[in-house]
Amino acid sequence: MVNLQESSDTQAGSTPVEIRDADPPFNHSTADFIFRSRDHVDFRVHKALVSLASPSFDGLLSLPPPITDGIVSINEVKDGLPVIPFPEDQQTLLYLLCSCHGFAPDVLPPLTVQGLKSVCAAHDKYVITAIHPRVHDTFISVAKEDPVAVYAIACHYRMDKLMLAAAKLSLLEPALHLSHSPELGLITGLQYSNLIHYHQECKEVAANFASKDWSWCHSLSDVPLGQATSACPTCRTQLILEPTTVVNGSVLDGNTGKYIFYAPSWWFQFLTDGTTSAKLKETPCGSAIRDRAFLAPVLKKAVSCANVECRLGVPEMLDFCDRFAAAVDEAVSRVRFLRILLRLPYTCLILLRRQVTFPTAYPNT
Ligand SMILES: [Zn+2]
Repeated sequence: MVNLQESSDTQAGSTPVEIRDADPPFNHSTADFIFRSRDHVDFRVHKALVSLASPSFDGLLSLPPPITDGIVSINEVKDGLPVIPFPEDQQTLLYLLCSCHGFAPDVLPPLTVQGLKSVCAAHDKYVITAIHPRVHDTFISVAKEDPVAVYAIACHYRMDKLMLAAAKLSLLEPALHLSHSPELGLITGLQYSNLIHYHQECKEVAANFASKDWSWCHSLSDVPLGQATSACPTCRTQLILEPTTVVNGSVLDGNTGKYIFYAPSWWFQFLTDGTTSAKLKETPCGSAIRDRAFLAPVLKKAVSCANVECRLGVPEMLDFCDRFAAAVDEAVSRVRFLRILLRLPYTCLILLRRQVTFPTAYPNT
């Protein structure tokens, strides 16, 4: 619904601005107040909900109306509700009130990096620490596009959950060290160093998974075409395991005292020739292993054996790569993110935050 009326900031004789009512759920008839965005959208809000979500709103809405010359002075009332103008735009106010009210439309408008920054700044400004899951999901969508920028914004506004999610998504960025995101200006050198250090740790863990650490490979059934005897002299190779790495189903060699099994040479080369380690060092994520373009050369080798039965190695290799990718993701998820953040009691945090300058709830005229 659109109303044409003079807003409080228009001068006498100026063109009336178009005031628009917000969409559901912020147009409810039982609301107590109207929050007006700077671009003239009215959100009807419930005092109890916003007061519980934000100590800043609690203080604002609990203020008695100012009195001038013994007369209560209210700048603007609409449908019997006091109108409070906000400096935030409608998109920012929408996201903010979703967190406050605890419910949100099924689909929120997409955010840009700058939009996300504005929403995070507003949550910080009004001390709203509980972010609605759907709002967080939208933040993650932005982080998938520009994880470094979102990492920086989350650090700046002390949003730990978003910061960790953005740091993990940044693992998909092979050229992190070349990032020139302007949002990096929001964070300290130490916070950026934490991100670089996290990448290095994850890269080491992921790369070792291919070349050294086969602890996730428990059984011969985990190995494509893995067998205790050499079923094909063309494509299989004998693997001798160290005593500390016993794969269930392998056979103890009485002469050497070591365990052996047979597997396709292309599978062994895939893990040990350095290509897979290099790939994981560049992008330490399971998705790197599932990349069909990356797998194309090894799959081509898998179908090259003249023995038809050996070609079953292709689907087995794809299954193997799924398990391998899951193991990489699991191992990387255990890498600890070094966070040197200021942890303070909630009340101290409020005091340290910059002073919020509200428009007066009931401004004098
Ligand atoms: Zn073969």
